[in-house]
Amino acid sequence: MIKVENLKLSFGKNEVLKGINFKIEKGQVISIIGPSGSGKSTFLRSLNFLETASSGTITFGNETFDLSKINKKDINRLRKNTTMVFQNYNLFKNKTALENVIEGLLIVKKMNRNEATEIGLKMLEKVGLKDKAEFYPNQLSGGQQQRVGIARAVAMSPEVILLDEPTSALDPELIGEVLKVIKDMVKENMTMIIVTHEMQFAREVSDYIVFMDDGTIIEEGKPEEIFINSKNQRLQNFLKRYS
Ligand code: ATP
Ligand code: MG
Repeated sequence: MIKVENLKLSFGKNEVLKGINFKIEKGQVISIIGPSGSGKSTFLRSLNFLETASSGTITFGNETFDLSKINKKDINRLRKNTTMVFQNYNLFKNKTALENVIEGLLIVKKMNRNEATEIGLKMLEKVGLKDKAEFYPNQLSGGQQQRVGIARAVAMSPEVILLDEPTSALDPELIGEVLKVIKDMVKENMTMIIVTHEMQFAREVSDYIVFMDDGTIIEEGKPEEIFINSKNQRLQNFLKRYS
């Protein structure tokens, strides 16, 4: 469904992605783990064309693009396939939960307001927030705001959802409710790439785990291969710190 080959990306002289090869199939859930600064967010952002790679290719379906040369028109078209959920929710503060969820449907999908509202309310119901539709972000808890962020992403019915540490800004008691919403999405066979430090969660929901360190993929495999059987020293050191 999406394949990336030999993706390299630098910020000035600092090469932060050093030749990433990555593939995800429809319905798969892949978690990306790895230490701070290893390039996880940069990789996710480059999949959504928020960062520009210096070389490499990306394939969506049967179309392949050179990442360093891809044009605006293709980017805008491909972005409809992927939506991103950020660590800090990125909700519009002057819009209600419902307005936040339907914004993309109105602007990007050019739906009429009635149709968008119907979908928006359905999405809010899915994340358990239908009764909060008219609330503004500052009237919602962090966990609720993040659930609105997830509802907004799912509302666009993208082929792939990219989640960048969706729970790391939350107080511990709010993490569970957001993980539950993501688990519900897994049950519905959404295709997802999740950057997370929640190892137990990653182990439970992922078909596949990718361990990144210092701009490269060091190890990848099924959860048991990564969490139980791996002999890789860097991975083991990392896991010791996070479990
Ligand atoms: P964390 O777990 O802390 O979120 P990460 O694995 O997501 O870390 P990235 O945010 O991808 O790491 O950062 C990878 C490297 O790229 C870091 O060294 C960082 O300083 C650098 N970097 C990221 N964004 C920029 C930017 N906009 N300009 C310059 N350097 C950047
Ligand atoms: Mg990050």
